[in-house]
Amino acid sequence: MTKYIFVTGGVTSSLGKGIIAASLAKLLQARGYTTTIQKFDPYINVDPGTLNPYEHGECYVTEDGAETDLDLGHYERYLNTFTSQANNVTTGRIYQHVINKEREGAYLGKTVQVIPHITDEIKRRMLMLGEDNKFDIVITELGGTVGDIESLPYIEAVRQLKWEMGDENCLVVHLTLIPYLKAAKELKTKPTQHSVKMMSENGLNPDVLVCRTEEPLYKDLKRKIALFCNVTENAVIEAMDADTIYSVPLEMMREKLDEICLQKLQLPLGTNPDPNMGKWKEFLNKLRYPKSKVVVGLIGKYVELQDAYKSILEALIHAGAMNECKVEVRNIHSEFLTRENAVEKLHNLDAILVAPGFGSRGLEGKIDAIRFARENKIPFFGICLGMQMACVEFARNVLGMKNAHSTEMDPNPEEGVIAMMEDQKNITQKGGTMRLGSYECELTSHSKTASIYGKTHIAERHRHRYEFNNEYQEIFANGGMIPVGKNPGTGLVEIVEIEDHPFYIGVQFHPEYKSTVENPHPLFVAFVKAAKEASERRNGHSKLVNQLANSSLR
Ligand code: GLN
Repeated sequence: MTKYIFVTGGVTSSLGKGIIAASLAKLLQARGYTTTIQKFDPYINVDPGTLNPYEHGECYVTEDGAETDLDLGHYERYLNTFTSQANNVTTGRIYQHVINKEREGAYLGKTVQVIPHITDEIKRRMLMLGEDNKFDIVITELGGTVGDIESLPYIEAVRQLKWEMGDENCLVVHLTLIPYLKAAKELKTKPTQHSVKMMSENGLNPDVLVCRTEEPLYKDLKRKIALFCNVTENAVIEAMDADTIYSVPLEMMREKLDEICLQKLQLPLGTNPDPNMGKWKEFLNKLRYPKSKVVVGLIGKYVELQDAYKSILEALIHAGAMNECKVEVRNIHSEFLTRENAVEKLHNLDAILVAPGFGSRGLEGKIDAIRFARENKIPFFGICLGMQMACVEFARNVLGMKNAHSTEMDPNPEEGVIAMMEDQKNITQKGGTMRLGSYECELTSHSKTASIYGKTHIAERHRHRYEFNNEYQEIFANGGMIPVGKNPGTGLVEIVEIEDHPFYIGVQFHPEYKSTVENPHPLFVAFVKAAKEASERRNGHSKLVNQLANSSLR
């Protein structure tokens, strides 16, 4: 029978519930348990696809085309398994379902209420992934913070499930904060006591407390927390601030979070005394002790917000570790980039990545950065809008189509080299209507991309409405920008390369969504490798200049 772990959060948001949930799942997986994670978000949007990255960070896209919370990215990166639409549920989706049923007459004669109708639907969805016994353990992260009005139906649903299934089948892990007051030189437990009390008022008591802290929790303090919060002493887990999110699973292993959860769920620890984390440790070692360093410019319009390009940043970390090279990401705001200041802002980068995006703000800056990378032979990687703008740049500055553009920004350009897909033209609804999820792509066998992947048939995830306009394919190819990857069914261009450049690849899809700790994405690995080579060339060059200067001095 599938067992369930719920991860709740108290005191404040941004404590890293997603990372704790993913770390616990990783440890259970490493002990041989089949595990998945799902996230329940208490907002009214049906999915986060319509949310601005400033509000909610990146929108993560799954294989089956669900636009989901960025925590699902962490789940996939840690567990190296796919999630799906079922792994992310919002209050909006729950209500939409219940209201649709009400309209169909499913509750005829009844008053439809939060309890039991909404809570029943929440419970149904909480149990859904465990229904066919594919998983030994399903971990559910509850978004928001205990005490929020909108979290109440979720807490009530978990309370009911715990009552129905018993404590040995249903566990609550509560993530909380133990602040350190510098003036008093003391760790404070009161906010945690309050958040646990608030949960208990709703009938739910946590079984395990994971305590975020800047200072180690000493034994007496753990005992105090246990006593006042009504948990066993070994269930007070210390979660110190970590140097990287990738060290958290090992920290949680040291604190025995997995062991205590398994004990409480009455499940065996397995034959190994420790989870099998060999590969993970290898990755972490490479990440911590790089042999070289590169500087990659990330050109985008949300760069001030760390979470907006989460998967890209993580994919660069995976690729850096693979290359035993530290990747320093320099965020460059495309809105303030011009042809005039491009040299000043971009000259000391080893590689340039132009980010995905929507709308025209900061677009010309992206085009200037691409031009700079192309002309100066700096490794360039364009993702989605980044690839589209690479095409626009090439059309304008190489093919002489001065007024080339994407019809997203200019509805009637002289040369619409990027245009809306036919099947998108009649769509008026915004939510969930883009080209979403995994699509196949056939690569030209002698292309750089095919050699990077080591195969010619791939599938990658998409999230866009516009495409390369195939009317221009021949002109582009003759001019030197080659479409080396196409969808086998529709002929839509997926990848462009230019010749005579150390690394210049634009992709219509989002490779970053598929990069995991165990399987860093080949395109990112190759991009960082190209950056390393560029850096060596530059350093070699400056060494040579120094040597020449020294010898002429002699
Ligand atoms: N705005 C572009 C489109 O819709 C690109 C989207 C993206 O970069 N994800 O096609």
